[in-house]
Order: sequence, then C-alpha cells, then structure tokens
Amino acid sequence: MSQSHPQPVDLIIEARWVVPVEPHAVVLEDHAVAVDGDRIVALLPIADARAAYAPRERVELTEHALIPGLVNSHTHNPMTLLRGLADDLPLMVWLQQHIWPAEAKVIGPEFVRDGVELAVAEMLRGGTTCANENYFFPDVIGATYRKLGFRAVVGLPVIEFPTAWAKTQDEYFERAGEVHDSFLGDSLLTTAFVPHAPYTVSDESFERIRVLADQLDIPIHLHTHETAQEVEDERAKSGLRPFQRLQKLGLVNDRLVAVHMTQLTEGEIAACAAAGVSVVHCPESNLKLASGFCPAEKLRAAGVNVAIGTDGCASNNDLDMFGEMRTAALLAKAVAGDAAAFDAAFALRAATLNGARATGLEAKIGSIEVGKQADFAAVRLSDLETQPMFHVISQLVYATGRHQVSDVWIAGVRKLAGRELVGMDTGAILARTRAWRERIASA
Ligand SMILES: [Zn+2]
Repeated sequence: MSQSHPQPVDLIIEARWVVPVEPHAVVLEDHAVAVDGDRIVALLPIADARAAYAPRERVELTEHALIPGLVNSHTHNPMTLLRGLADDLPLMVWLQQHIWPAEAKVIGPEFVRDGVELAVAEMLRGGTTCANENYFFPDVIGATYRKLGFRAVVGLPVIEFPTAWAKTQDEYFERAGEVHDSFLGDSLLTTAFVPHAPYTVSDESFERIRVLADQLDIPIHLHTHETAQEVEDERAKSGLRPFQRLQKLGLVNDRLVAVHMTQLTEGEIAACAAAGVSVVHCPESNLKLASGFCPAEKLRAAGVNVAIGTDGCASNNDLDMFGEMRTAALLAKAVAGDAAAFDAAFALRAATLNGARATGLEAKIGSIEVGKQADFAAVRLSDLETQPMFHVISQLVYATGRHQVSDVWIAGVRKLAGRELVGMDTGAILARTRAWRERIASA
C-alpha cells in the first residue's frame, strides 16, 4: 500500500504501550493495533499506522497499556449470586452444608442467567474477556454469554447424582450432546466436558467422557487434587491417587484441564508435562478454603501449561483476574522459596495465552498477534497508584487494580468504554441481584 492510499480498517487503537504477551515479556512503546471485523490485521508503531490505515474509528490511549483480554480459566459464574453467602468454613462443610443446599433451593434457568449477567459485568470491568465455565444449565449459560457478546467455553456437566439439570447419567450425556451441537459454529462459544471431580464421577462415566471428548475434539475440565483429604479418600476407595485413576482411565493427555492440583508428586508433575496436561491454578480459592498450595513454579519449570482461574465467587469471592495474577505470582514465590519464581511476565502469560491454550483457543486468543481475535483490555497506568513507571509488566501484575481497566473489546466490539459497560443495563443487573439476595437469604 502507499501513503496516498491508506487502507480502510474498522478500528485503530493507539496505545502508550502494547504488551502482546507473544513474543514473551515484550513491551512495545507507542504502538497501534489495527482491527478489521473481529480480527487483528496489524501491530505497528503509531506513526506507521497513521500512514498506512484509514480507520473508521480511532481510539487514542495515551496513558494506557493495551493487553490481551484476560482469560479466567476456571469459574462457576452463576454462583456469583452466592458471593459471601458462607465464608470462613472448611471445603466440605462449606460445600455440603452451605453451598449445595442453597443452590438446591434456587438453581434453575433464571438463577443461572442472572448470575452469568452479573459475572459478565464484573469480568468486563476487570479486563476479562473469556471464561472457562463450569456449571449446570449450560444451555442457558451459553445463551446468556451469546446475548451479551462475551467469549466463553461452556462446560457440559457430568456428576454421579441427580441435579436440576439431569436425573440420570444417560440424561447428562444426552443433554451434553444437545448443548454442544446447539453452539457449533458460534463465533464466541465453544464447549468442554466438565465432570465435577474424580470423587463424584464413576469410571464408567469417565470412559464415556473420554470417547466423546475425542469425537467432539473438546477439552475435559475438572477439579482434582484440590485437597490432601480428596487424595486420601480416593486411595482408601480405589487404592489409587485420583491422578493415577485418571491415568488408568486414559484421561491424562492434552485434553485434560486439571484444576487446583495442590497435591502433586514429582512423578505426577513430570507426567503432566509429558502428556501436555494444562493445570489451572486458583490460588485465592485454595487459600480461602485452606485447600493446600499448588506447586505452580515446579509445574512451570517442568514445562506444564499453567493457567489461572478465580474459581466461583462463593470461594474467592470475586472475579478479579488482576488480583488473581498477583496472588498467583506471590504465592508461587513463597511455595517455591524463591523470589525469582513465577515472574510477572509469566503471571501475565498464565492469565492470557496459557488460558487460551488450556481451553483449546490458543490459535484465536490470548495474545495480540496478527490474525487473532481482537480481544483487548486497556489499563490506565497514569494513576498515582501505578507511578512512577519503570517496568510496565511488573506494574500490571504487582501494582495495578482492576479499577484501572478503562476499555475492553471482544472480537473487535467495544464492551467497556471509559469504565462504562456498553449495551448492559447496570441498574437492572443490580436490581435483579438484590432480588436474588432476598430469595437466597430467606430460602
Ligand atoms: Zn471450582
């Protein structure tokens, strides 16, 4: 192209800094991203972009870092409506005596829809553009994400007891197939199997999941090795550690997205690396439930794909991926006894590109690269809390609060503009959330 005939594109975002994540640990100063439709078509210095492109819209972010939208690699977003319902309790007491009974009283399509909507509003205001979802009523979950234009991996649940979603194992599998088919070809939605955990899913169901996940070419996303007790209970029952049982069932491969993993032997870490397993580290949920410490640095050093998730709001209690990145980096250093462990650039990668890889979306999202989807978060770094500026990536991980996220795009569409949600009615979301508070508290 010549300077006299600049190429028309939909959008140019000019930023003081662009952190593309790939190549690793790079910060580009005074760069612009050109977007056409839902895709990134160029990443180049601002002066060059002005000569080469005629954008329909130009956004100037003179005090901001533009980063890939954050990927929350493990969450239960309908549970955002249970935020703060039961705190300061051990995992099994929390789950069996508080969360499951409360859920049983309110769970249904409306609860799921309103919980996801509240979560999407919170995620967008925190720079998150993709959620790896794990909850019942995936049909409603997917429809809600689709309506709101939010990217998600919709989990297809399997658990060995009847729930409001399905009564029998056959019904879980039938409904999983229906939901998967209904979202085929959707530009923002994909699916994964989400068997709850080894202690709630039978060998027979795991075998069906393995075969179907291969046929559908989708990930298998499950909680495992969350606590030492879980590992002990499985050993007492089957004589195997949960991970060994998954190995025996043929599930330890590059489809496996293993969440928590606080109890791991050196052999299991090596097996994860060799098999291409992704591990989702949920440090704040693990800390709050005193579940144990994921050896995140050992996993990273072994070459395991480590991603980051918040877990649900009932055990975190927020969907703040900036907070989670910071906690992940700090906790990994303490657990490893090494201040150089899990550095800031790796934490940002874990919260973006590694999440994309875990969810099978590595070719589409997770970094600012030509050809990828235009999913971005702009972070205003001129606030006194993030000054002076020596190192952008360090500042993003160790000093930035999610309130500094100013603008967000998903597939080239602006979802947050100057911290205002675009196309979402904040007042209506709050009113519905307060109504759920009354129903849940009086249940
Ligand atoms: Zn979870």
